[in-house]
Amino acid sequence: MCPPFPTTPAEPDRPAAPGRAPLPSSVVVRDRFRRQKTRDTAPELALRREVHAQGLRYRVDVAPLPGLRRSADLVFPRARIAAFVDGCFWHSCPRHPTAPKANAQWWQHKLERTVQRDRETDRALTSAGWAVVRVWEHEAPDQAAQRVLAAWAARRGPLTSDPSRVLPMDENSDTANPPVPAGD
Ligand SMILES: [Zn+2]
Repeated sequence: MCPPFPTTPAEPDRPAAPGRAPLPSSVVVRDRFRRQKTRDTAPELALRREVHAQGLRYRVDVAPLPGLRRSADLVFPRARIAAFVDGCFWHSCPRHPTAPKANAQWWQHKLERTVQRDRETDRALTSAGWAVVRVWEHEAPDQAAQRVLAAWAARRGPLTSDPSRVLPMDENSDTANPPVPAGD
């Protein structure tokens, strides 16, 4: 649920990127923290739309495990899959490395810590029997959705498109078109 790195500066007194920030870094930092709290980012919405179109249902922005102080962007409680859309800046995407120049050390530590926390989250989930899907914000939504679907199919079996099997969504269902029962 981290937002993408801002690329559309709307206000003239806001920098577009930290590297060429004309402002005191404290302003940039304050700005970043404000953005970090946002949800429903464009990449998240795009992925949700794609996955929804494929017939899967999920919960949005909830903690998959009780006590886990980290929410996932798409949660499939029944299949026990947690999908995260990771912002390229915050989660240090290898394809879009960013190194803020102001307060460089502080940022380096901050970003490393975020990645560390991601891996801790992954471990906590997998050791509790969950599958974790991590999607980069730069990934094409349809391809990202395919990865979520593949994880789902691996756990729940292939989706059926038989309309007679469409059931209303409920708490325990991840899908609008449930698969042929696999015995659980
Ligand atoms: Zn990226």
